[in-house]
Amino acid sequence: MKSRIKIIIHGAVQGVGFRPFVYRLAMEMKLNGWVLNSSQGVFIEAEGYKEVLEEFLLRIDKEKPPRSFIQSMEFSYLDPAGYNDFNIRTSDDEGSKSVLMLPDIATCPECLNDVFDPSNRRFLYPFTNCTNCGPRFSIIERLPYDRKNSTMNMFTMCEECRAEYEDPLNRRFHAQPNACPVCGPHLELWNMQGKLLESHQDAMVKLIEEIRTGKIAAVKGIGGFHLIVDARNDEAVKLLRKRKNREEKPLALMMPDIECVYKFCEVSEFEKRLLLSPESPVVLLKRRDDNSELAMGIAPDNPYYGVMLPYSPLHHILMKELGFPVVATSGNFSDEPICIDENEALSRLEGIADVFLVHNRPIKRHVDDSIVRIILDREMVVRRARGYAPLPVQIKEAQGSILAVGGHLKNNIAVSVNNNIFISQHIGDLETVEAYNAFEKVISDFENIYDVKPKQAVCDLHPNYISTYYAQSLNCPVLAVQHHYAHILSCITENEVEGDILGVSWDGTGYGTDGTIWGGEFLKVNRKSFTRFAHLRQFRLPGGEIAIKEIWRTAAGLLFDIYGEEILSDRSISSFRDIPDSKLYLLKKMLEKNINSPVTSSAGRLFDAVASITGTSSYSHFEGQAAMQVEFSAKLLNSNEAYPFRILENAAGTETEYILDWEPMVKGILNDVKNKMETGFITGKFHNTLTDMIVETVKRSGDKKVVLSGGCFQNQYLLERTVNYLTDNGFSIYWHQRVPTNDGGISLGQITAAIRNSNKE
Ligand code: ZN
Ligand code: ZN
Ligand code: FE
Repeated sequence: MKSRIKIIIHGAVQGVGFRPFVYRLAMEMKLNGWVLNSSQGVFIEAEGYKEVLEEFLLRIDKEKPPRSFIQSMEFSYLDPAGYNDFNIRTSDDEGSKSVLMLPDIATCPECLNDVFDPSNRRFLYPFTNCTNCGPRFSIIERLPYDRKNSTMNMFTMCEECRAEYEDPLNRRFHAQPNACPVCGPHLELWNMQGKLLESHQDAMVKLIEEIRTGKIAAVKGIGGFHLIVDARNDEAVKLLRKRKNREEKPLALMMPDIECVYKFCEVSEFEKRLLLSPESPVVLLKRRDDNSELAMGIAPDNPYYGVMLPYSPLHHILMKELGFPVVATSGNFSDEPICIDENEALSRLEGIADVFLVHNRPIKRHVDDSIVRIILDREMVVRRARGYAPLPVQIKEAQGSILAVGGHLKNNIAVSVNNNIFISQHIGDLETVEAYNAFEKVISDFENIYDVKPKQAVCDLHPNYISTYYAQSLNCPVLAVQHHYAHILSCITENEVEGDILGVSWDGTGYGTDGTIWGGEFLKVNRKSFTRFAHLRQFRLPGGEIAIKEIWRTAAGLLFDIYGEEILSDRSISSFRDIPDSKLYLLKKMLEKNINSPVTSSAGRLFDAVASITGTSSYSHFEGQAAMQVEFSAKLLNSNEAYPFRILENAAGTETEYILDWEPMVKGILNDVKNKMETGFITGKFHNTLTDMIVETVKRSGDKKVVLSGGCFQNQYLLERTVNYLTDNGFSIYWHQRVPTNDGGISLGQITAAIRNSNKE
C-alpha cells in the first residue's frame, strides 16, 4: 500500500542546492510529490511504498549537498494525496510569517573535529558550536534570535571569534553562541557546599575521576542538569535511586559512541539514524541478552534500555574520556522538574549529588531529553522536548491565539499562532510546587516569545486539575475539553485526518462528561464534537486514588463484581495472597456498601487488575508500571488465542450503543491462573482479547477511519496487533508519530477542540 511522507527540514538548506537535490533524488526513486523552500523551512511531500520512502529519508540525510546541514528533520506518514509527478513548488512567503525558534541541535561532525584536534584553538573546549549546531531554544531570551537576545550576551567575543562571526564564508558566520576558551563560558567543579574544587579543563579531569570511583555527579548540560553515575557500578546506581527517591522507573543511559550501543542493544538502521540525528533523543532499544555488564538497577524487569549518544561537546569530551556507559538521568528529586541553575541545583540536589560540574552559560529554560521509540517501523515520540520543542504542528486554517494548558500528568502546554500550533517542551506531572511553578513559567514564556495574548483558554474537563484552576483564573473565555476526546483530536491533527472517524482512546484516567472516570473509550468524532459510542464495562476502584498504586484493590473491585465477596477470601489468587485480613475485611465492606469506590471504564486500570491477578506485579510505583509488566511478560505474538468477551447492546435511546464486557475474559484468566498456565501465555491471550474487542467494536461503528490514542497505545504488542488486524479488515488506521500518545498530546488536542468548537454545524 502506498503512503505519503511529509518532511519538514530546518537548517543550512537555503542557497546550497537543496531543492534540486531533493528533486533529483525523488525522480531517481520514482516518487511523486513536491519540494518547497520557505521561511518556515524546507517542506517535502513524497508518495510511494513505505520501504522506498524510508530509503528516501535515509538518502536525504546521507547524500545531501556538501554545504548543507540538517539541524532538524521531522516527518510524518500520511494518506496519499494522489500526486502524479514531482515538482519544485514556489514559496509563498508573503503570507503570515510567524517567527520560528529552533530547538537545540546536537554537535555537528565539523565541530567535533575541532574539539578533538590538538592543534585547534578549541581543543577540548566544551562550548564549541557553529551555525549548524549548538544550543538555541535553551539560550534564547527573546526573538529575533541574536547574540544580544540570548544568554550569551554576557560574553564579549574575542577578536578571533568576532572575525569568524563576521565572515560570511566562515562556518561560524552569525553563529550566535560562538565562543572559544579565551572569550566564552568555562567549567567549574564544585563540592556539595558549592565550594570551587577545580576550574576549566581541570574541572573535567577531576569530574572523570569522581565518576570512575562511583560518585554521583550533577552535570549542567544544555537544557538542565543530569545526574550521572557509572552504569556498570551496581552500588552507585542503587545509591542514586535511593537518594533521588526513584524506586523503579527506568534510568536513561548515555553511551560513548554507536559501537558501544551495538554491544548492549539491538539497533536497526533507522534507530541508528535517530541516535546520531541532530535531535539526538533517548531511543528505547531492545537489550541484548548476552551482555550483563551493566548494573541490574538501571531498568529492572524491562527488556529495553533508553539510550542516547553525547549531544554537546561537553558530553563528547566526558564520554570519550570515560569510555563506558553512564546513567544520565534528569537532575531532579523524584518527579520534580529538571534543575537548570547551579545555585538552585546546590539546594535542590542537596544530598543527591556528590559533586557538581557547572558552567557560566545560563540556561534560559529547562529542556529535558526527548524519548523516542520505533514502533511499526515508524518514529513514535514518547516525550517531546530537546531537539523537537518548540517546533510547531502546522494546521490548514490560521487561528486566533488560543492557549491550551494540557492535562495533569506529563503536562505540556500549547499556543496557536496563525497556522502553527507550538507545543511546549515536556513539563511533567503537576504534583509538586516546583512543577506548578515551571508550568506557569512556560506559559508566560510562550506568550512572550510568540507575542500572544490568548483570546481563548482551553483546559481539561476535570474540575479539580490545577491546570483547570489556572485556566479559569485567566481573563478570557475557557473551554473545558474531555480528556479522551483531546487524545483523539491530537492524533487527528498530527495525522491530518479529515472526515468522520471513530476514535479509540485507551488510557489511564480521564474525567468523563458523566462525572465518572473514563479510559476505555470509543468516541465517534465529527467536525464539531463527539459522542461516546462504546466503552469498557465499568468496574470499581475500592479506595479511589490508592488503587492506582495498590493494584490488588482494582483486581478486588473487578472480581467482586463477578463472584461476590467470597472471592476476596481466596488466598490462592496472587492479588490477595499477602494482604492482611483486616485490610481485606475493610475492602469487602467498602465494596458491599459502595463507599469510596468510584467506577471507571479505564483500560489502564484493567491492565492493572490483570497484572495483579496473574501475579505479574503487585504494585505500581509509577503510572503505567504494572501495565508495562503485563506487556513485557506477554509471549504470544504469533498466535490468535484469546479469551471470550461480550459486546452488550445498550438500551435504545442512550448515546452509548455498546458496552464491552470483560467478564468472560476475567473468568478465563482466573481459570488459567488456577490451572497454573504459564503467565506469558495468559498475558498474551489477554492482549489478543483486547485487540479482538477493539476490532469487533470498530466493525459495529460503520466508520472507515480509526484513530488510536491514549497511554495504552505505548504498548507495542497492543498497538502493532491492533493496527495490523484493523488494516487487514480494510480500515484506515492512524496512530501517533511526532506527538505523544500519552498525556503529552493533550494540549494539542485541546487546541484542536477549541478550533472545532467554533465550527458551524
Ligand atoms: Zn557545528
Ligand atoms: Zn573567542
Ligand atoms: Fe490520558
